Amino acid sequence: GGARGRAMAEVAMAAQAPQDEEGDECLREYRHLLSPDLLEGQVAFITGGGSGIGFRIAEIFMRHGCRTVIASRNLERVTEASKKLVAATGQQCLPLSMDVRQPQSIVAAVDEALKEFKRIDILINGAAGNFLCPASALSFNAFKTVIDIDTIGTFNTSKVLFEKYFRDHGGVIVNITATLSYRGQALQVHAGAAKAAIDAMTRHLAVEWGPNNIRVNSLAPGPITGTEGFRRLGGKFAEKSSLFDMIPLQRAGNKTEIAHSTLYLASPLSSYVTGTTLVVDGGSWLTSVNNFTALLGIASSSA
Ligand code: NAP
Repeated sequence: GGARGRAMAEVAMAAQAPQDEEGDECLREYRHLLSPDLLEGQVAFITGGGSGIGFRIAEIFMRHGCRTVIASRNLERVTEASKKLVAATGQQCLPLSMDVRQPQSIVAAVDEALKEFKRIDILINGAAGNFLCPASALSFNAFKTVIDIDTIGTFNTSKVLFEKYFRDHGGVIVNITATLSYRGQALQVHAGAAKAAIDAMTRHLAVEWGPNNIRVNSLAPGPITGTEGFRRLGGKFAEKSSLFDMIPLQRAGNKTEIAHSTLYLASPLSSYVTGTTLVVDGGSWLTSVNNFTALLGIASSSA
């Protein structure tokens, strides 16, 4: 007890994970840490908003008064997601089909969103594709596809939003990237290169569009539970092994934590923050091992 006990309790709370749900389901209960009207009256356009991290970003934004557009290729997926989001939050959510590799489909989606809501304040570039693969086994086309979706898709969507609305009204862009390239993670040359290029784009566009009252930032998540990325990119190995020992906060993050940090970057709380990358990884990239044998599942099983 005493002062030391209280201080330790405060430290523990500072890194405590908020509640999350494993699948693409809304939170059963939610305690606001920030004002519930933080994004009142605003509209967010979220690519990849029908699943994983993008779904939770949509939910948390809606719980803070925001209306959302969730856009990805699979209309059925975003339609299902929007029903859940509306039911849980009571806010409006417009599901749209769009491929970030096809500018015409982005133009059509943004036109439809503006017709519905008359404004777009926030763009979250969350759409991405990824898989683990050694560079030597990666086809020329596979590398190109990841660059097409992640990097060029982020540019395409940002450019359309700029021309259709942000140039004249200002706005906020948050690009969801990754820490893969910081240490040159094995089996990830495609995604690491694609996301590093997005972080560069974040800085370029922050400089070029700053005078238009547009803020542009990246958010780089670490390993996040309850996502396709985590399931595919070694989640099952991470659970079994002591990989979490390497993470300073000793655990994976969850989708709510990424959504909370995205909420910070998208809201007026970060009104003077632009051109930066917010790493949300529990300190992970600072210490991670280059354990690609474990990731490949070819580590000798001594158990
Ligand atoms: P996810 O559920 O697979 O999300 C990816 C989304 O992108 C899907 O909703 C998908 O929907 C959409 N998408 C893919 N290709 C598209 C295209 N061509 N056009 C439009 N939409 C497209 O994965 P997640 O793990 O939550 O990842 C979300 C973001 O966080 C990604 O940018 C990812 O790189 C990043 N990230 C995740 C982790 C992690 O641990 N999970 C770590 C670091 C970074 P459709 O199939 O319907 O198109």
